[in-house]
Parts: sequence; C-alpha cells; structure tokens
Amino acid sequence: MNLRDSEVICGLLSKAGFIITPSDQDAEVIIFNTCSVRQHAEDRVWSLIGSYKGAKIIGLVGCMAQNYQQRAFERDPRISFVVGPQDIAKLPEILKKVTLNNLLECKIWETEGTIRPEEIYHSGFAQDNRHAYVVISEGCSNFCSYCVVPYVRGPLRHRKYQDILAEIQQALDRGVTKLTLLGQNVNAYQDSQVDFTKLLTQVNGLSGLKEFDFFTSHPKDAHPDFFKVIRDAEKSVKRLHLPVQSGSDRILKLMNRGYSVKDYLALVDSYRKIVKGGLLTTDIIVGFPTESAEEFNQSCALLKKVKFNSAYIFKYSFRPQTAAAKIAEVLKTGEKEKRHQKILDIQRNISQKLRSKKDNAHK
Ligand code: SF4
Repeated sequence: MNLRDSEVICGLLSKAGFIITPSDQDAEVIIFNTCSVRQHAEDRVWSLIGSYKGAKIIGLVGCMAQNYQQRAFERDPRISFVVGPQDIAKLPEILKKVTLNNLLECKIWETEGTIRPEEIYHSGFAQDNRHAYVVISEGCSNFCSYCVVPYVRGPLRHRKYQDILAEIQQALDRGVTKLTLLGQNVNAYQDSQVDFTKLLTQVNGLSGLKEFDFFTSHPKDAHPDFFKVIRDAEKSVKRLHLPVQSGSDRILKLMNRGYSVKDYLALVDSYRKIVKGGLLTTDIIVGFPTESAEEFNQSCALLKKVKFNSAYIFKYSFRPQTAAAKIAEVLKTGEKEKRHQKILDIQRNISQKLRSKKDNAHK
C-alpha cells in the first residue's frame, strides 16, 4: 500500500513541476512515506531522519504522520511538514510553500483529511513498466485489537469500480501486463452491485492483462464463491494470502478477528478443494498479550497442520492507541524472541519441504 502511495505522491509532485531525483543526496526535499504497523518500522524512520545532516527539507508523510501529528516536530525538529495518508493530495501545495520560501523553519501539518480525491490515482506515474499496484479500497473498519490501521488510515472506503477499471485501463495502455489489487481487506470490496468476486471477474476480462493477484484477504469475508473465482479467472494467480494470526481461539477472540480456528480450517479445506494446487500463505503474531505457552503451541500446531507455503511471522508490537495496548502484556521480551525463533524454524522447515516436493515433481 505504501509503495503505491509513494507512486501517487511522485505522480502528484511531478505533475506540479517537481523533479524526483535519482539520489537523495541531490534532493532539496526528502519525504518519508511511513508505516506505523510496528514499532520497529517507526524506529527505523526516526533513525533515518536522524542520519540526514545539513540543509535538507524533511517531510513526514503517511501513517506515522497521522500517528504523531504535531508531536513529530517535537520528536525531531528537522521535520518541516507532517502529512497524513488522507491528505497526500495537498503535498504539491505544501512543497511549494516550503521550497519557494525556503522555509527551513516552517512547520506545516495536514492530518485532518478523511477522503482522498479520486484524481490522485490517475497521474500515470509508475515505477514499473510491466506491473501496477491498484488500490481498490482505503482504510479498514475491522479494528483487530493489535492494529493501528483503522486509527491512521480511517474507516473502510471502497473506490468506485468504474474508477478502478479506468485506472487499470490506463496502466494497460502504458504496457502493463501484471496487476496487484490492494486494500487492507480486499475481499470486503463492495461498490453498488459489484462485490470483490464481480470485480475480479471484470478485471480478468480486460484484454492486454496477463496476470493479477490481490492483497490482503480477511478470513471472515472469504467464502467458496470467492475461491471459485480464483480458480475460474484464468489470469488470477492461484495463490491466497489469508492471515490467521493465531492458532488459539481465546487469542483470536482477544484479537477481535471474527473467526475461530475451526472456521479458518474449514476455509483452508474449501480453498484447497476448489483451487487445486493453489498456494496458501498467512500471517502469524507471536506473543500477543497474555498468550500462554499452550496457546503459542496451538499456533505451531496450526502451521504444521495447514502446511502453508510461507508465513509472515511477527512478534507482537505494542501500539499505544489500540485495544490490545490496554491488556497487560505478560510475556517477557526474551520469551517472545524464543517463541518467534521456534515458530520461524517450524515454518522454514515446512516451506523448504514443500519447495523440494514441487522441485522434484518438475524433474
Ligand atoms: S483487517 Fe485487522 S489487521 Fe488488517 S488492517 Fe484491518 S484492523 Fe488491521
């Protein structure tokens, strides 16, 4: 999502006459388009900002900007402007102010926006000539208890399907042949009569397109008809990323995920029956507050049972605004680290075995 947002920002700025420099050393203004999902991502940004010496104008954009707002200026006085994800359309005007007036001391913040103007997606700026990212929905209303996204990106908004198709057509006209549809919860997509399955069918019918995929699907909005479209749409990559997060029903409930382990396993079964040979990947959080050793073992057992092709496994990261932040965290950092390592090893083993099985089948 942030890669696409960075393209949108570059498109807006190029259109306004700014030049994107090949190297940050040549730039007068440095913009950090940031993520707040984990503390580690934020720490890296603060450290990178700290590494810029001299007379660069520095802007903080994206989720961290929304998260910190004016506090960002206190955290690092070198920052000149702070712009939240819903306000990126204002960046050309803000840059004009800070560059024309050479206002190194200037402090501008824009974090009150609620909707993005549709035009921002149509500048035609893209980093890749063959592959395009296309945002189909913005924000999220699921409020998983560990997640900061609903607070920084706002509630779920669906783009109009005609606008999405127009953006895709523009990309195809440029020579793009592969697409990735993006949203925090893509399979909840709904615009009038067009739901996600209908959107996928329409995208599949576009001439010039060779392949497409999408991220991220939520288990509570997944169903057999969705899997049938993955199977039947010949341009759809036969792969599903379906984050499970935990193998414990108690933890899933605390996470506010809206499904049980049994529901999830039923979906896996249905997906594998319908999309024969389709790849399956997931996300896991280790060390959610109050996660017991037994509940952690249930996550390990789930990985062994399902045998995902790969999994993104994260250590729980404390996010101040969230509901999970109010649960006393009982796990010591060392224990979280140990569990993380153990489950990474389990998944590495599974992924390797599946890969060698596939390689042997091709020999
Ligand atoms: S579905 Fe949950 S984890 Fe994903 S963005 Fe929304 S709140 Fe966050």
